[in-house]
Amino acid sequence: MNRYLFLVILPLTIFSCQFNTHDKKPKNTVVLVSIDGFRYDYSEKYNTPHLDQIAKEGVKAASMIPAYPSKTFPNHYSIVTGMYPQNNGLVHNNFYDPEREQHYKVGLGKKDGSWFKGTPLWNLAEQQGQKSATFYWPVSDARVEGMTPTYYFKYNKPTPYFERVDQIQKWLSLDEEVRPSFIATYFSLVDTQGHLFGPDAPETKEAVEYLDQVIGKLYEVVKSYPDPIDLIIVSDHGMQQVDVENSIVLESLGRYKDFECVNGGGIQYFLYAKKGADIEKTYQELKAQEDKGFVVYKKEEVPERLHFSKGKRIPEIFCEAIPPMTFRNLRGTVSNGMHGYDPYKVKNMHAIFYGVGDHFHKGQAIKSFENIHIYPLIAKILNLKVPEEVDGDLKVLSPALIK
Ligand code: AMP
Ligand code: ZN
Ligand code: ZN
Repeated sequence: MNRYLFLVILPLTIFSCQFNTHDKKPKNTVVLVSIDGFRYDYSEKYNTPHLDQIAKEGVKAASMIPAYPSKTFPNHYSIVTGMYPQNNGLVHNNFYDPEREQHYKVGLGKKDGSWFKGTPLWNLAEQQGQKSATFYWPVSDARVEGMTPTYYFKYNKPTPYFERVDQIQKWLSLDEEVRPSFIATYFSLVDTQGHLFGPDAPETKEAVEYLDQVIGKLYEVVKSYPDPIDLIIVSDHGMQQVDVENSIVLESLGRYKDFECVNGGGIQYFLYAKKGADIEKTYQELKAQEDKGFVVYKKEEVPERLHFSKGKRIPEIFCEAIPPMTFRNLRGTVSNGMHGYDPYKVKNMHAIFYGVGDHFHKGQAIKSFENIHIYPLIAKILNLKVPEEVDGDLKVLSPALIK
């Protein structure tokens, strides 16, 4: 009798599998947008009706805490890898790798993706049978793990913003088999104006309000589809008005020829010890000059909260400027606005987070959180399995999701 029962059940099972395939729900899609340098309080300081509407219809965080250092490349990459810079390899926009005996600077990764660790979300989607697309996102035009998104462009800063929105609309309109489920895009204007004119300047206000229009258009596009599409809007860091007249000239701190010295974007000064360097002596020499407006750390005494003490790319000694001070080289200049500071000391480094769509609660305010937690959130929406080495934890943002 068992044999006959099996013969009856088997076709039924096959039939029900086929039935499920035909009946399956439309696939989830996430559109992730970064507005570089959009400080956490710009939406209160300036007029942002579209972002305010998104906050009403979705989730808004009090702020998002950038990874250390609060620079563009480390933070965009920690958002899409869910890993702190010390683990994803991008510890700064400029750094030195003692093992490779090479200096890294922005753009090098386009030729050599081996600088980067981790699995960016666009790769995670591709590896698990989905398609991804980026209309600019730092590192998305490099070959990480030998891969790129199915659809991507080489970075070209002047590309008009509404053209980027139009392309996203085209991607969302593709047939299901070729339509990307993970889409990311990036806008630099608010950061550029914030640097040039400072966070309080009318030019920065104008940039913020223009970006709000761009976001308004994108939200309209996203809402025009019946499919479940979630829109997530973030920034990488904030912006701090600094003292343009007085800055710390790096050469005046001393000549440290036993160290490989790197100017970390005006806020950090990295000293990598060469063989035989006297680390303690140099540390003490720098410590004696802290009253110029900076703090100095030995690698082993970096505060735990910064997650910045692991691996050879973190130097044995580094200095960190304290606002309104910055570092510059003898012939260098300082712009009005800067970022890179410790986000736990300088609230102006905090960024933004908004999430809206089928999976997010409506009108929910959430407290500040670290940007590494976005990765498991997006993976959850897209039904992607998260790699074990990821630092982010789904528990942090799961209260923002409708179960
Ligand atoms: P930061 O120097 O930290 O303020 O970095 C912001 C700058 O990075 C902006 O002016 C962008 O134009 C630039 N940027 C953003 N994405 C890329 C990219 N994929 N390749 C090269 N530069 C980029
Ligand atoms: Zn930035
Ligand atoms: Zn910047």
